[in-house]
Amino acid sequence: MYKLIDGREMAKQTRIAIKKEIETLDGTPKLVVVLVGDDPASHVYVRNKEKFAGRVGMDSEVIRLPEETSEDELLSLVEKLNNDSSVNGILVQFPVPKHISSNKIMNTISPDKDVDGLNQINIGKLVAGVEGLTPCTPTGIIEMIKSTGIEISGKNAVVVGRSLLVGKPVAMMLLQENATVTLCHSRTKDLAGEIKRADIVVAAVGIPNFVRGDMIKEGAVVIDVGINQVGEKLVGDVEFETAVKKASHITPVPRGVGPMTIAMLLNNTLLAYKAQSQK
Ligand code: NAD
Repeated sequence: MYKLIDGREMAKQTRIAIKKEIETLDGTPKLVVVLVGDDPASHVYVRNKEKFAGRVGMDSEVIRLPEETSEDELLSLVEKLNNDSSVNGILVQFPVPKHISSNKIMNTISPDKDVDGLNQINIGKLVAGVEGLTPCTPTGIIEMIKSTGIEISGKNAVVVGRSLLVGKPVAMMLLQENATVTLCHSRTKDLAGEIKRADIVVAAVGIPNFVRGDMIKEGAVVIDVGINQVGEKLVGDVEFETAVKKASHITPVPRGVGPMTIAMLLNNTLLAYKAQSQK
């Protein structure tokens, strides 16, 4: 019988802890989210970030800019926020419109305020094993795996998907936890065979029901990162109905990795605030 890793409940507990800590601080951490354009999913994500920041007692501001905002305009806004000492965390919601380089934007955010943990300084720190702000989704994933009580050290972990946002950093974090990590992608030859050897599977592909139960080893921990709209429904990258027949622990979609991602963003903002206060 499988156990569900309840991301919504874990996120709630995390927010309670963050709120308690904020109440003990002299000041109030502030998160600024910048949203460029009209992507409907991004608008939903940003509203949620704002809502939960408010619930934990953080200040938050959303700056909504039109689709035709130029790269220079966005870069100078980021610089302005970097220099504003009342702002502790900056997040530019991706994707940005095609005429703007997400790479440039990501790497203009001051590493101290980079609560998405995606700029090259913070990714470099992650690879070097030095403390820094770490990407939200992967950080949440590690917490979720740890919540099962299953030791990561020595396990075979297979990550499917090599994006900068999820696949690469989560592979690096699993390595830091002493797992033996295999990072699979679209050119992987025997994906089913790789997954079959995994004690821990992280699926971040963006294809509905991509990982099926018959690929999963008996007793594996399965983390489904995918958020795919299929008709009216949101489904993950893992075929839940067949995966639960093999997994010991599994995350649902929705209410799995998604809520933890936002909780980790709030936690990063708190960490950024504390690091900046010590300066
Ligand atoms: P991406 O499109 O940047 O990367 C997808 C990866 O999957 C690529 O590295 C590619 O090599 C790999 N891939 C594609 N087809 C494959 C195949 N046939 N076999 C093996 N690998 C294949 O996506 P992403 O940003 O990493 O997001 C992945 C999914 O996770 C999406 O559904 C996204 O919506 C979701 N996501 C969820 C959260 C969350 O908070 N829950 C956060 C980020 C992303």
